Amino acid sequence: MSDEMRLDALAIGAHPDDVELACGGTLSKLVSLGYRVGVLDMARGEMGTRGSAETRGREAAAAACELQLTVRDNLELPDGHIWLNEESRVKMARKIRLYRPRVVFTHYWEDPHPDHVHTCQIVREGAHVAGLARYDADTGQERFRPHTIAHFMFPRTAAPTFVVDMTDFAEQKRRAIACYQSQLYDPGSKEPETNLSGEGFLRRVEARQRFYGSLIAVEHAEAFIVREALNVHDPIELLSRKMNMYS
Ligand SMILES: [Zn+2]
Repeated sequence: MSDEMRLDALAIGAHPDDVELACGGTLSKLVSLGYRVGVLDMARGEMGTRGSAETRGREAAAAACELQLTVRDNLELPDGHIWLNEESRVKMARKIRLYRPRVVFTHYWEDPHPDHVHTCQIVREGAHVAGLARYDADTGQERFRPHTIAHFMFPRTAAPTFVVDMTDFAEQKRRAIACYQSQLYDPGSKEPETNLSGEGFLRRVEARQRFYGSLIAVEHAEAFIVREALNVHDPIELLSRKMNMYS
């Protein structure tokens, strides 16, 4: 099999803009470190209160350019009706076998939005069955299972497993989020208001980044949670990084 499609990291969000808001800075940082990074959206966002599927598609493509993603793909599940079933699981397993990401980022398992919760379930099950040789074997794809699934902390509160300093990439993230003009504050818009479109929304996103930054004594950070134990190669390298405790 060719390695052309292979990614180091794949971030999977229910709707276009979820990934940018949750981990846009981390993805931008990974690209700058030389990793191949992709985003997979589950739906086109056609159920959203503001903006059409076409508008949101254009915005997602523009944000992908800002983040310099290798690929931005869409699973094309019906927005607002994302469920774990055989169809969604097979679709997910095929994408994971196609891109073969070592690390997957996705939603946290507890979230007010059912699409986010179900995306988390589809990703976890899809990643598992993608590693079974006899599952969906007729496609000719090789089996593959990601090493780790790291979950977004946004918008939940829980203790993070790790926190990524993305201070130098906060501006890049801001520009990627700004691509979603139809969703954000626009005093001239006649569309109904949402959480995102309120004037204070971007300030709250920044406040969250600064809060996670304060945990490791940097300006801006994004936090993640991993369910399984981490396999650490060099605990000294890992544990001698700056933490707020001694700063
Ligand atoms: Zn969403």
